[in-house]
Amino acid sequence: MKLYLSLIAAAALSLAACGEQAAQAPAPAPEQPAAEAPAPAEQPAAEAEAAAPAEQAAAPAEGCSAVIEANDAMQFNTKELTVSSACGKYTVTLKHVGKAPKTAMGHNVVIAKAADVAGVVADSAKAAPEFITVDDARVIAHTAMIGGGEETSVTFETAKLAKGEAYEFFCTFPGHYAMMKGAVKVVD
Ligand code: ZN
Repeated sequence: MKLYLSLIAAAALSLAACGEQAAQAPAPAPEQPAAEAPAPAEQPAAEAEAAAPAEQAAAPAEGCSAVIEANDAMQFNTKELTVSSACGKYTVTLKHVGKAPKTAMGHNVVIAKAADVAGVVADSAKAAPEFITVDDARVIAHTAMIGGGEETSVTFETAKLAKGEAYEFFCTFPGHYAMMKGAVKVVD
């Protein structure tokens, strides 16, 4: 009987051991998922972290720079630029995604008060080959004139733009203004 009891005890022990093992086994098991979980958790966390600064960076960046594409069909790919005055400086990058040479299908980006645009366009048309009037106070900013496959950019002080004033961006290559223009919106 003693032996039987001890057998039972042994069995109970081994069961307990098994139970412990079983308890231990799941322990590492959850640890693994746990370890895996933090990994994906870390990734989203990292993504969230990356996204957060990215968003923060994107928010000012959104109003601090713009990339405009121009093509051989005399078109910009955007009709509006949003300039945040908080940026201090604003950069416009112009990419000519067409193939036509500058002499045939040149593009630039010029920014002026809406009220000044007609005069700037008319005078620029006479200013070959760059088609931009130099030392023109009406011109707030302008890129170089470029041809297909080229890229250029210009940075200007956002303080040059007043809130509530209407501004436009446009191309001064002769004949392009009708198609190539957009509004410049000034925000905080
Ligand atoms: Zn153009």
